[in-house]
Amino acid sequence: MNTYGLNIWSDDNFIIDEDEVLVNYKSKPSLLDITQKIRSLDVRGPIILRFPHLIKKQINNLYNSFNYSIEENNYKGSFRAVFPLKVNQLPFVVAAVTDEGKNFSYGLEAGSKAELILAMSKSTNNSPITVNGFKDKEMITLAFIAKQSGHDITITIEGLGELKTIIEVVEKSDLKVPNIGLRVRLHSTGSGTWAKSAGMDAKFGLTATEILEARKLLSAANLLDKFTMIHFHIGSQMEDIAPIKRALREAGNIYAGLKVLGASSLNSINIGGGLAVTYAQHDDAKLHNYSIEEFSSSVIFLLGEIMDAKGVKHPDVFTESGRFVVASHSVLITPVLELFTQDYHENLLNLQESNPPLIKELNELYTHLNPDNCIEYLHDALDHIESLLTLFDLGYINLQDRSNAEILVHNIIKKSLNLTSKINASELKQLQVSLQERYLINASIFQSLPDYWGLKQHFPVMPIHHHTKQAMRAASIWDITCDSDGEIGFDPDKPLYLHDIDLTKEDYFLGFFNVGAYQEALGMSHNLFTHPNEYTIVIDDNSFEIKNEVESKSTLNILDSIGYDTNKLVRKLKMDLNQSSFITKKEKSDTLSKLEIILAQNGYLRTTS
Ligand SMILES: *Cc1c(COP(=O)(O)O)cnc(C)c1O
Repeated sequence: MNTYGLNIWSDDNFIIDEDEVLVNYKSKPSLLDITQKIRSLDVRGPIILRFPHLIKKQINNLYNSFNYSIEENNYKGSFRAVFPLKVNQLPFVVAAVTDEGKNFSYGLEAGSKAELILAMSKSTNNSPITVNGFKDKEMITLAFIAKQSGHDITITIEGLGELKTIIEVVEKSDLKVPNIGLRVRLHSTGSGTWAKSAGMDAKFGLTATEILEARKLLSAANLLDKFTMIHFHIGSQMEDIAPIKRALREAGNIYAGLKVLGASSLNSINIGGGLAVTYAQHDDAKLHNYSIEEFSSSVIFLLGEIMDAKGVKHPDVFTESGRFVVASHSVLITPVLELFTQDYHENLLNLQESNPPLIKELNELYTHLNPDNCIEYLHDALDHIESLLTLFDLGYINLQDRSNAEILVHNIIKKSLNLTSKINASELKQLQVSLQERYLINASIFQSLPDYWGLKQHFPVMPIHHHTKQAMRAASIWDITCDSDGEIGFDPDKPLYLHDIDLTKEDYFLGFFNVGAYQEALGMSHNLFTHPNEYTIVIDDNSFEIKNEVESKSTLNILDSIGYDTNKLVRKLKMDLNQSSFITKKEKSDTLSKLEIILAQNGYLRTTS
């Protein structure tokens, strides 16, 4: 049975049971049941399902791992963590993160004014807030306001200019001063696809010389008692643990060096984010080479060792891993609208009274195909189709002949692949590429899987039902945008096989997994497709509950959001209809109500029942 790499990427979060994919938690509802229940409310197009229990699981994993390592290593500092809002700022994600993190005092990280406002409004006073990114005077003042309101807030300085602005704000206002962290520029670099955050040419951070300068400025402004944190972040989706260890040694020694120089309030190292998520679906695909247990134990052991060597008290350890915490919690469900090679279905064959000799022969080959002769017949068929296409170009056979030839050859290949397993591997690959079925999904890759479009990041994909049937069709996936980049091509080295479904008789839904990090925030309205409808699924021992519907934008709302005066647009549409002279009054009002329904729906296709 094809399990679509479930054992590689799903961390036991999902399982296949008979025909369907189940959420492997408590009452184990099937994704199909959840999907059908939502669609019964006339929802069409793609949907996002959020599972808060998976956020809880990841937060628990993170804290338990670090707390275990702290105990094992007799480490004296404590573990603290913040969720970086840029990974997913949507209301029901932040609600789940803060809710599930409450017991740990899990905090929030902000990188812009809007995110800082969000962090201030969603944090309790005993959970930390950290602030990164470029800051102006207003953003720094906002951090002071947060402190004034009682938050445990640390503002990380990315450059000396920011520190000077802080000192200015301190001198000109009587607001309480937040804690101050320094982002250090490490010479060790990251390794993931996104590793542009460290190294001497990195966008962020202070060099050793600047750190010493910062210490002087802080001391002169009488702010040394506010300097509590050293921060670094070497990049996202770190695949190799070695660069993290190098960065830790470097940052640990910077910390110890500053302590020795008398930074008496300094008490924390913030190791940034970057914990990797498994997106791979095939055995030979590149996986990150460490577990959360190895990661936490390396961090704690190394920091303890460095501090002990320098005679410095163990610092508290902060992390800002976001992808690790939320990637697994959401699943994108997309209906399949069409299988393009249904056009080659056998019953569309329309042989004429008299057929060209090569077509007759193709038909003979097809009729007499068996496991012993199929490889030979297959080669004959591939030879014939070349000749037939040339004959067509030269005008010797007609369009019906050509259609018959294509149908026959397509079915000879398809049937041969079923009859024998003896086709040589490279030929098989080639045949699968030419036979591939194109699955049209009712979704936009630009909106829902932007990292596939931008970075070719693979996301695990599988049908959520039909698993008792063999999936035989080499598949490529097309979205409904008019952009040829909206395609996930068939890769013979990492093939995706899907089912041959007659969509006039039954539904077919694909699930894309581990899409909870970055995709929603980065998604774009290419072709003016809106974000999918989204739902929170709360599962208990007996059943599940669908909560927190967030509807996708209607066609009118999406036009409104890019600046059109939709009242004016609608008035124009109505006027055209009213002025139309060749329809009756009744026809006008019927047409108008049809138009109004369409304007109020989202723009995804409504062709499936
Ligand atoms: C983006 C970012 C993170 C989160 O990174 P993940 O790879 O999602 O864990 C953490 N810290 C900083 C400073 C960031 O910019």
